[in-house]
Amino acid sequence: MVEPSGLREAPSTARPRPSSIKSPAPPLARSGVAERTFIAIKPDGVQRHLVGEIVRRFERKGFKLVGMKLLQASEELLKEHYSELRERPFYGRLVKYMSSGPVVAMVWQGLDVVRMARTMIGETNPAESRPGTIRGDFCIEVGKNVIHGSDSVESAQKEISLWFRPDELTCWEDAAERWIYE
Ligand code: ADP
Repeated sequence: MVEPSGLREAPSTARPRPSSIKSPAPPLARSGVAERTFIAIKPDGVQRHLVGEIVRRFERKGFKLVGMKLLQASEELLKEHYSELRERPFYGRLVKYMSSGPVVAMVWQGLDVVRMARTMIGETNPAESRPGTIRGDFCIEVGKNVIHGSDSVESAQKEISLWFRPDELTCWEDAAERWIYE
């Protein structure tokens, strides 16, 4: 029989647990753990076979993947995604770059994930990104900076709903979570 906590009842023949061994913590109910961010591996990241490396970094950090797809983004979608930059001189080049090949669009979830993902990604200009960050390790120029990450919780919500339908996001119980959060 499965207990509400997800733990199996000990068989009656099992020896009693020593009182010093504590039961695992109950499922997490902490606010903030459900924060989500939108991450996209840009066409240069896909062409340079960096998908596995980038996914690995977010996975190993402890974040939970809740949505992922490879797609050729339409110009319409990219213009909407970057609409706040439409007055910038590089806007046309940026839309062309982002539509030059497939991108991997992802949604990652976890405590403070928007801010931490930006730290993992590095500065907009790879030349100013520290080694150890994704842009610091894998690219050189601002116009080919391999990855996008939402810059605030509000933009994340907007970007997630722009790139994903609700049924493309999967809620699942991450068994590692109790070893990642206090
Ligand atoms: P970030 O992606 O770090 O949030 P921005 O939102 O300012 O940065 O810019 C969006 C994207 O536009 C950048 O990631 C980069 O691909 C491109 N970009 C920004 N500045 C320039 C620039 N000066 N020249 C060419 N492309 C740029």
